[in-house]
Formats: sequence, structure tokens, C-alpha cells
Amino acid sequence: MIYSDFKGKKLSRLGFGCMRFAKNEAGEIDQAKVNAMFDMAIAGGVNYFDTAYPYLDGKSELAMAEALKKYPRDSYFVADKFPGHSLPGPVDNSALFELSLRKCGVDYFDFYLLHNINEWSVKIYESAEYHILPVLLRKREEGKIRHLGFSFHGSARMLEELLDRYDGVFEFVQIQCNYLDWTLQDAKAKYDLITSRGLGVWVMEPCRGGKLAALDEANAAKLRAIDPAASDASFAFRFLQGLPNVKVILSGMNEVDQVADNLRTFERERPLGEAERAALDAIAASLKKGVPCTACRYCCAGCPAGLDIPFLIECYNSIKVGPALNSTMRLDGLSVDKRPAACVGCGQCAHACPQGIDVPGVLAELAELYAAGPKWGEMSKGRQDNIRRDLNMD
Ligand code: SF4
Ligand code: SF4
Repeated sequence: MIYSDFKGKKLSRLGFGCMRFAKNEAGEIDQAKVNAMFDMAIAGGVNYFDTAYPYLDGKSELAMAEALKKYPRDSYFVADKFPGHSLPGPVDNSALFELSLRKCGVDYFDFYLLHNINEWSVKIYESAEYHILPVLLRKREEGKIRHLGFSFHGSARMLEELLDRYDGVFEFVQIQCNYLDWTLQDAKAKYDLITSRGLGVWVMEPCRGGKLAALDEANAAKLRAIDPAASDASFAFRFLQGLPNVKVILSGMNEVDQVADNLRTFERERPLGEAERAALDAIAASLKKGVPCTACRYCCAGCPAGLDIPFLIECYNSIKVGPALNSTMRLDGLSVDKRPAACVGCGQCAHACPQGIDVPGVLAELAELYAAGPKWGEMSKGRQDNIRRDLNMD
């Protein structure tokens, strides 16, 4: 196993993501399978396990605790997340945190994150009424959180503002990073920003929800030509292994074969060669379906609607590759007069754009995609009900 150092802790670079455990025929988490996968991962050197309060309808924390209970507490690291984006309203944050500790069977979290900060959820996380951060800072002072960070799905610009505003508060940031999002979602800029502030980078979605682990035939053939025996996923992981400030790469494993393959990939450092990197760049280019906005902002000054055009195009490009939920959440964070439907179609931006992008056309399509897309408000109702029930709020 390859390890990284974070403040004197030896973290396995492969982290076990607990978001996608396999279910049995009854639709329940297959605990025997989870136990077997954990045993195999631990025998292979994995010592980092990542869950979150809402994962698997609140059952991920319990399944993780069950699989870890036979191991000494100081032999593994547990990461959990505060569900600010799923709250039904202001709640007793301390009680919710303590409940997660109990469900995970631990009395402290090695790593704890504010879950899914983006342009929409940041308003909750920063709200005085919701009072989230002060409670978590107190938990850190009490030793119940050893390291505090946040998982992030917003823009690089927003990340920079957050890092300025909370200088010295957070210790690590978890971002969606893989060889497709390196450019598609500006992961390179985010990685550089976090690194320049001296914080650790944690990676989620290394295979973009499985997309890069099961490539289409033409793209998979590019990788088979390089190494017929290597899995698609192994290339995605090796891309990330080459980024020195990536401390932990989370993989949501739900099959024993997947654990075995990942353990092989993380057995030793194997940086990508030039041909391999070129193949991944070509695959990433083929998977992008959006428009080549460089975020130069030449179009913004003259927009009569005052729209943040590069931000909207970033959401458009991301929705085109899918899934759409995070992007529609980010658009929810805008006031109605700043959303894509507010474009009046004057065409000023298209004239200003050095890339020749038909911005009004793109925004019209984005407005349709947004209107038809998933709605976080509706989707999070079940999560909100769970929190109400768990905190006896009904
Ligand atoms: S076409 Fe739309 S986005 Fe472009 S400048 Fe006019 S209002 Fe703004
Ligand atoms: S001018 Fe074109 S490339 Fe530059 S930010 Fe606007 S849309 Fe993007």
C-alpha cells in the first residue's frame, strides 16, 4: 500500500468510501459482504474509511462501524460529514454530531467534514441561524474532531473566497478530481489553490461515479492498447497518484473484485508515462460534450442582465456530461434574476467571446436543462425526515 503523511499520520492513499455498499435480495446492506471487503482492504493496508450521515439512508455509518468493530481503534482512521445541505432547518447540531459518533461506534472522528459546500449550500453553512461552524470548532477543541475540513462542489473562484475567509480554520479539502474533471470542473485550479494554502487535498469521485471505470468500447481500446491486463479504473487512480498533495483517494467499493483490483493499483507507485497521459487526455476530450469556455470573462462586463456567464457555462458543461444534480443545486444558489433564463438574448457576449461560443444559445439550452433537471429540494425531503426522526423533532 502507498501511504501519505498528513500531520504525522500515515494515511493509506486508497480510502474506502462507504457510499455504495452492495445490497442483498431484501434490499438491505449486505453486511457479510461489507465485512469481507473491509477485511480484505485492511489486510491490503487500507486504514482510511469515509462515511457521511446521509449515506445509504443513514445506514452507512452503522454498517461501517459493524465491519470495523473487531479492529483496534488506533489502527484505522474514520471520516464522517456534517449534513448541512440536508437539514430540515436549524437543528441541535451538537446532538446530530454526537449521534453520528454513536452510530460509528467511536468517541472521536479522525477527520470530519462539512458536507458538500457549493454555491447553494454555503448559505446554510455560513448562516448565523444554523450555527454550524461554531459547534464543530468546539467539538474540535474538545478533541472529538481531530482534523476539520469540507467537501466541495463549487467553482474555483468560490473556493478561493472560502479559503481567504476561513484562513487557518480548515485543514483539508475534499474535491471531485479525476482526469476528466481536471479541466471540465477546474479540478486543477482547485488542487493548486488548496496546495498553495498548505492544506491537504482529498479526492472523491476518482472515477466520476464509475464513468471512468467502465469506458465505452472505443476509449477502453485506447487503454487496452497500452496495457491489456489493466482495468480502466487503475488508469484513473494512477493519474491521481501522480499528484503529490493528494493525501487520500476515496473509492466507493461495493464488490470484492473491485477491492482486489484497487489494492493492486495502490500496491506501489506507478506514475503515468507520456503515452498513458496522452491517452487519458484524449479520452477526457472525447467525453466532454460542452463548449470550450476559458473563463476569460470578456463577455461579462457588457451583459445587461449581469449574469456570471462563465459560471453558467461551467454548470452547462458539467450537466452535459452528467449527473446533473450538483450543477442544478449550484444554480439553485443563484437568485432568479441571475439564472440562465434571465438571459435576454442580446448577443453582446457572443460578439465578445474569443472562443466563438454561442452564449445565448447555450444559456437557452441550460435554462431548459435546469427546468427539467433534478430538484434538490424534493430529493432531500427523505433526508430531512430522517434527521427530524433521529433528533425527535416530530
Ligand atoms: S445574450 Fe444573455 S448572457 Fe449574453 S450579454 Fe445578452 S443577456 Fe447577457
Ligand atoms: S468570453 Fe467566451 S470564453 Fe470568455 S468567459 Fe465568456 S463565454 Fe467564456
